Amino acid sequence: MSECCAQPVLELPARPSGSKAGESLHTVALIGPPNSGKSTLFNRLTGLRQKVANYPGVTVEQRMGLMAGIGRNDLVLIDLPGIYSLDPYSEDARVSIDVLEGHMPGTPKPDAVLLVLDSLHLTRQLMLAAPVLQIGLPTMVLLNMSDLMEARGGEVNPLRLAQELGAPVALVSAAKGTGLEAVKLFLNRQGKSQEAEQFTLPVLGNAMSTHRWAAQVSSRTGYKAPLSAQATRRVDSVLLHPVWGPLLFLAVVFGVFEVVFSIGQPLSDGLGDLLAHFGSYATNFLPDGWLRSLVLDGAWKGVTSVLVFLPQILLLFLFIGILEDTGYLARAALIADRVMRVIGLNGKAFIPLLSAYACAVPAIMATRTIENRRDRFATILVTPFMTCSARLPVYMLLIAAFIPNISFAGGLIGLKTIVMLSLYLLGFLAALATARLLKSSILKSSETPFILELPQYRMPTLRGIGLRLMDRARVFLTQAGTVILSVTLGLWVLAHLPITFGAGGMRTPELAESVIGRLGHFIEPAIAPLGFNWKIGIGLLSSVLAREVMVGTMGTLYGADPETQSLSLHTALHHDLPLGGAVALMVFFAFAMQCTSTIAVVRRETNSWKWPLLQFVYMLVLAYGAAFFTNWAVTAIWG
Ligand code: GDP
Repeated sequence: MSECCAQPVLELPARPSGSKAGESLHTVALIGPPNSGKSTLFNRLTGLRQKVANYPGVTVEQRMGLMAGIGRNDLVLIDLPGIYSLDPYSEDARVSIDVLEGHMPGTPKPDAVLLVLDSLHLTRQLMLAAPVLQIGLPTMVLLNMSDLMEARGGEVNPLRLAQELGAPVALVSAAKGTGLEAVKLFLNRQGKSQEAEQFTLPVLGNAMSTHRWAAQVSSRTGYKAPLSAQATRRVDSVLLHPVWGPLLFLAVVFGVFEVVFSIGQPLSDGLGDLLAHFGSYATNFLPDGWLRSLVLDGAWKGVTSVLVFLPQILLLFLFIGILEDTGYLARAALIADRVMRVIGLNGKAFIPLLSAYACAVPAIMATRTIENRRDRFATILVTPFMTCSARLPVYMLLIAAFIPNISFAGGLIGLKTIVMLSLYLLGFLAALATARLLKSSILKSSETPFILELPQYRMPTLRGIGLRLMDRARVFLTQAGTVILSVTLGLWVLAHLPITFGAGGMRTPELAESVIGRLGHFIEPAIAPLGFNWKIGIGLLSSVLAREVMVGTMGTLYGADPETQSLSLHTALHHDLPLGGAVALMVFFAFAMQCTSTIAVVRRETNSWKWPLLQFVYMLVLAYGAAFFTNWAVTAIWG
């Protein structure tokens, strides 16, 4: 397994010692263009006996699984990234070539290849067949979506195609599970044969010659594209209409946003309550004291603060899954592309940026649909500027405590609302400006034309979406969960050290005297120019875990202080913090990256510490500078 932190879910058998490729079948690679149904086939052939990791040194996901139902159970299936050609222009294509040629460290050279092509777009998809067959591994070509092709009046002669390609061809439906006996036959035959079968193909040059070859082959084999192309064109004339297209697009996007927010939030809250109840109930069985506090306040609260995001994440991926599988997401990206291009990003960045209003973690995971690595990284880097729901409790507390009840336009709009909207706008503008900055400097990429194959519309399947949701849930829980658990335990320990031993036995310090309290005092000189005091300092330190932790920390701190004990949190804050500091604190929260889950997920998605570190420092410097300026300006104007 690579250095990535994904948990293995099964042990894959090693190649029996002494055997060589071709001698006995052990590893099979699955390759095909995006949306050809590769994942569906992979899931169909392996069930859930899979493990996911990253290929070493790159961000490409490595998926392996044990194949079932072919009469033996030691056959490993490797899912390669979805690609249109083997030109090494992209990281995905380079990974595919390396794996197929046996140069990928940690991945055995495949003994056979299953090439999945979408039979609805056979002519274009055949362009991948030529370079894959030329590698010379025993290959079977699977014409997928045969159910749809036949239902929509398409035709192809698999025998003729097999003769043209010099490789076995089968019509299959990964979704329905039909035609897969041919795969079993092919693999069993390869397993028994002592020598890998060799196929000869005409040596093809550049893309234009490959294209001509694909067109000739598909016409010689009597390929008739399905009629539904016309129906798709008719629907597209509405969905991609210059006026209706963008309007419908906005309606869909706001609909998704609204549902994730309005259904996801109460579900998250409900789950949070449930987990809190469960935690306090379960810890009743522990003796009162440090162990219970460590388990409940340390581990349980920390881990559940992440778990509660799960409903929003699943909802978001449910919608993205439906939009993607029906074929609409490709159209939405095409529409958004015109706007996103202005700030140098790809149209596919739109959905992640939008969903970041709920939470940056699923948003960053959703950037996987962006194939261009530089565009994808730029999107990941600007996503945490969007105002996520974790900032809301902090904004609400500060606005309630400091912003007076003034309204304008005859009571139509209040100052509090204006401040809240300004904070949203501030984050949005920071994201746009940063995207421009990145795309004109370190993540500059040549203006690539937006190439996107518009898939035909189809019904999403329950199985496909269900598997996708389970996959995302597993990745989210293992990645973010492990980091959160260790940081929470660390914070809890720091808040209870140093332990002193006196006449009354063991004593833990007051918060101000604890290591974390002293740390607050230690950093006070650095944050004083922003108008913050040591308590805010501790709040900021604890909010690195998750922004909303700030509110709880302030409650504990002011509650523990005899001077402010009897006051409400609003009043206590109002007395303790100057107006300049309060407004500066809101601005600080708009810009700073205080979220361990986001850091963890950026680390995972970029497969390096470099990017989350750069992002953290950039956002911190921006937050500090902006808060400094705000404190100075507010103090100068209002005193
Ligand atoms: P990938 O991008 O190649 O991994 O493609 P997916 O496996 O995600 O499939 C893309 C879409 O096609 C999903 O909505 C699948 O449910 C659907 N799909 C895959 N195979 C078939 C098939 O044989 N028939 C039909 N009707 N739909 C399929």
